[in-house]
Amino acid sequence: MAIRRIVIVGGGTAGWMAAAALSRLKAGHDLSIELIESEQIGTIGVGEATIPPFVQFNKLLEIDEREMLAASKGTFKLGIQFVNWGKQGHNYFHPFGAYGYEIDGISFHHVWHKLRSEGDPRPIQVFNAETMAAMFQRFARTADDHPADLPPINYAYHIDAGRYAALLRKYAEVRGVVRREGMVVDVALDGESGFVRSVTMNDGQHIDGDLFVDCSGFRGLLIEQALETGYEDWSHWLPCNRAVAIPCNRDDGSPPAPYTRSTAWSAGWQWQVPLQHRNGNGHVYCAEFMENQEALDILLANLAGKPLADPNFLRFVSGRRKKFWNRNVVAIGLAAGFMEPLESTSIHLVNTAITKLVSVLSLDGITPTQENAFNRLSGREYDRIRDFIILHYKATSRDDSPFWDYCRNMSIPDTLEEKIELFRQTGQVFREEDELFTETSWAAVMMGQGIAMEGHNPMTDRLGGSDLKREIDGIEQSIRYMVNAMPAHEQFVKAYCPAD
Ligand code: FAD
Repeated sequence: MAIRRIVIVGGGTAGWMAAAALSRLKAGHDLSIELIESEQIGTIGVGEATIPPFVQFNKLLEIDEREMLAASKGTFKLGIQFVNWGKQGHNYFHPFGAYGYEIDGISFHHVWHKLRSEGDPRPIQVFNAETMAAMFQRFARTADDHPADLPPINYAYHIDAGRYAALLRKYAEVRGVVRREGMVVDVALDGESGFVRSVTMNDGQHIDGDLFVDCSGFRGLLIEQALETGYEDWSHWLPCNRAVAIPCNRDDGSPPAPYTRSTAWSAGWQWQVPLQHRNGNGHVYCAEFMENQEALDILLANLAGKPLADPNFLRFVSGRRKKFWNRNVVAIGLAAGFMEPLESTSIHLVNTAITKLVSVLSLDGITPTQENAFNRLSGREYDRIRDFIILHYKATSRDDSPFWDYCRNMSIPDTLEEKIELFRQTGQVFREEDELFTETSWAAVMMGQGIAMEGHNPMTDRLGGSDLKREIDGIEQSIRYMVNAMPAHEQFVKAYCPAD
């Protein structure tokens, strides 16, 4: 059956990102796209930190970066600072760019390990531009913005997600997406195929569709409530299941940092996301180990400024749908699954789901091949990200609370077990099946959490002498030169994309 009517249920970040991207299919095709959202239900109201592929998503839609950041009061992000994770009083940085560069085809951290074992005292962080820029609160995008003729900086954004969704709404509506306000109260299935035929609104209207995109948030109105697709629960690996969020002003006068901060507490962790006008803050915790009131007290005691709203308490279960695409329903965003925002991966998963959907979609009709490919690739992507997030909990020496005792001792997926052991023994990280996180990401988090490399690639031992020393010194010096030439992050933001 040809696809002539696409219905998106939900108008949060996922719904409007999907609407904006799909609206580009309308040109040259006989296609209607409708988006249903309910002001009464509202959106989740959190989700402000992104990762670098989000920059590409906006480029693909030809959204002007300056306009987007001004409208969403956004700032730049070079990575994530993790405080008190491996052990209390310790912090490390997970940068978006690579450590150094490959030397004779060998990843830089092997070379660094060899030099370190020969007595070079320099920490690996001095060989990473994003870490150094973050440390000095500096920022510039590319060679256009700074005098040094050096590679561009890898970055993402902190955005006010509500404002970003409003921008995408305008974008999508201009391109012919029709928004319907109201609540879906019923879903009609075709008796024979089990496909969703229509949804019924609270005013009695029926909205028919050929393809439904379920962006209804945690409730999974179509994918779960109507189609009973099933959910893989990962709570045993990712036990946090609550969050409380409060935005605050920055009346301590501190400039917005060019990174997200994640501070571990006794049964979870706190995020701090600096926007131009305020900080986003929240405390993710595990209800089995901490009461709501205690979680709120910890958050309030650690805000950088005054609260700007009442606390927003949220519940979730980490995991994913058994199928993301089921019959003629494709679930995107929280309707598809959820992993806590430790590595800011949720909006990214919205982005990649949309990209995959647009790539495999045929307006001539839905086939099992499309559905299977989409599900297989999405499942793999979730599983790899899951392993990376579990790593932060498992690789800790914290023993100051029952929660950390649980995490340190829990069993983990075999895939992750192998990855940790391989790194410990050889320093090797295999980036598998196009996974999101790079060798530097894995190495940064493993070393940051206290997993020390015991060896390095033996090919590294061929390298040495004054040439190698000169090359390594050159990397450090050029990074220092580049960072020195950058303006302060706050100054850059004020000049480049001041808030509307
Ligand atoms: P929602 O925002 O919940 O939107 C659901 C939509 O469906 C709404 O418009 C609602 O009105 C509509 N709807 C639901 N039911 C009906 C109905 N019956 N009829 C009509 N409409 C209906 N992601 C990141 O990438 N970075 C982060 O820093 C980050 N932080 C997070 C922190 C927390 C604590 C949580 C829980 C999530 C975080 N996320 C983060 C995830 C991010 O918030 C979501 O991925 C993103 O907002 C997309 O949400 P959504 O659009 O799927 O769902």
